[in-house]
Amino acid sequence: MLSALAQYFSRREVELLIEELSSYHRIQGSPHLEEAGRYIRDRLSEWGIEVEVYDLPYSSEAPPTSPPIVGWFVEDGYAEIVKPKRRTVSSLREAWTAVVAHSPPGEFEGRVCYAPTYNHVQSCADSVVLTPDWGLGTYLRAVESGARAVLVFRRNAPVGAYPYFGLFPLIPELKYMRVPALTVPRDVAEEIVGYLEKGEEVVAKGFVRSGYRDTAYARVVEARFGGGDGEFHLVAHYCHPGATVNDNVSGSVALLVAAKALNVAIRDGKLKVDVPLRFVWVPEHHGTARYLRKVLEEGRSIRGAINLDMVGEKQCKTGSTLNLVRPPIVLLSRLEASLYAKTLEALPKAGTFSSPVEVPLVRFNVINYESGSDHDVYVAMGIPAVTLNQWPDKYYHTSADTIDKVSLRMVYSLGVAAVASVLELESARLEPYLHLVYGIDTLRASGEPLNARYYLYGKVSKLLGVELSVPRVEPPEGGEMVRLSAKGYLTSLYIRYRAGLEVLERLRRVQDKFRYFSTVLTLVGTHLLEGPKSSERLRFEVSGELGYEVPRDIFSEILDLAEVANYVSRWA
Ligand SMILES: [Zn+2]
Repeated sequence: MLSALAQYFSRREVELLIEELSSYHRIQGSPHLEEAGRYIRDRLSEWGIEVEVYDLPYSSEAPPTSPPIVGWFVEDGYAEIVKPKRRTVSSLREAWTAVVAHSPPGEFEGRVCYAPTYNHVQSCADSVVLTPDWGLGTYLRAVESGARAVLVFRRNAPVGAYPYFGLFPLIPELKYMRVPALTVPRDVAEEIVGYLEKGEEVVAKGFVRSGYRDTAYARVVEARFGGGDGEFHLVAHYCHPGATVNDNVSGSVALLVAAKALNVAIRDGKLKVDVPLRFVWVPEHHGTARYLRKVLEEGRSIRGAINLDMVGEKQCKTGSTLNLVRPPIVLLSRLEASLYAKTLEALPKAGTFSSPVEVPLVRFNVINYESGSDHDVYVAMGIPAVTLNQWPDKYYHTSADTIDKVSLRMVYSLGVAAVASVLELESARLEPYLHLVYGIDTLRASGEPLNARYYLYGKVSKLLGVELSVPRVEPPEGGEMVRLSAKGYLTSLYIRYRAGLEVLERLRRVQDKFRYFSTVLTLVGTHLLEGPKSSERLRFEVSGELGYEVPRDIFSEILDLAEVANYVSRWA
């Protein structure tokens, strides 16, 4: 099947779609996002594919993932220093990411004050803050301290690249959006810091022309093949700044060309689709959550999802590895096994020195569940969702994430591999795959997390009806009981919505102390789908998923935050 689909590859077509789709500045809540959604819809209809568009208002709420979000547009933005030497430091004409997404409009002029961290911002009254320590908290503190504007850079960004940052204000927070925010390339920021260190006065001036929109839509585009119950979704988020490509025009175009190839193959009589297969283009998390709610309310059921996010990389340039990000162990399914096999099959390969073995010519790895893309929304609803993602990427979230870092062939191959893994699901070899990941997972863990993995694999193998000889482990009990109050993927944004801005400091502290915070939150939600559990048992299961023991005090802090957002409730 893969070879049937592979023959429709057209380098020119992949390139054209990437160029056109990436020309829209697709920030969530912006008019360009809606236009990009229409662009996707138009291509699909033009190719004769059945397509449905969902316009889901950002002003609505999709608990526990997405609060009401403001709409925004940007027209122009510019900053220069006029002292000690005149030079441009930021311009929307150079990169869409030059203006921080959701920045309010305004003009400014003032002395530049360097704030290496969030804690230094309050000494920057009446000036233009230059900082590498970005966050909504930093911005709010700058406004509170009477700053005139914020210029932000990223220390590890490539030279000359404008980093992508956003504010994502909630509707009630709009009153704090008072000074413009722009980004500057790291090397330009270093030059300014250099002047300041020599004791020179630096004066900056500039403007942002932008505004907020009352009505904005998370436009979700769905292409349909096959009918019946128990859908499979192929998902890609198409939001993010204009002219950036790997994240995630690559996944969006992978789905577009795969849908087109499938449609042509059906027309040519080479393929038949007898499962309900849906291609879904979403604004990340916020569109996905609103869409899934709607789909499930309509009574449709979903058996599994494959999410493509950053799939087109030239690894030699970006430094990345292709990762198959698994759902949590308890959601192990045949889909995962199938995607693993099809991905391996789709990758370019070469023979070894003197044996019939072939090896992939790109780095490919299987990793345990971690949060960070649209699979989260599915997983937290108990739907097995697998992600293909290339990581790390030197150019990630900067204006240097451009088409020259994209392998057009990789985009296409991974798109059709995703299709083939659904269409040939029944022939996927679940049993050897289960043994493979069981082996990897138990080799990579020790102590309590290893015991927990024995427990989780014992459970899931029984569920799947696969023979697996696993040491018998009983989960510990103890601590208070925890119950899930709201099913779904809990985001920091939603916690802020429920708990108010005061929670920002707490969120920051937990995230600084424990990097796996958001992954743990999703795992908590997934593991509570079965019903209430003692916190010790829950911590054991989550540690097994993570392969790392979550410290008791951190776990309890995470549960506190989840409770503040009405996500879980606890009792003694
Ligand atoms: Zn992404």
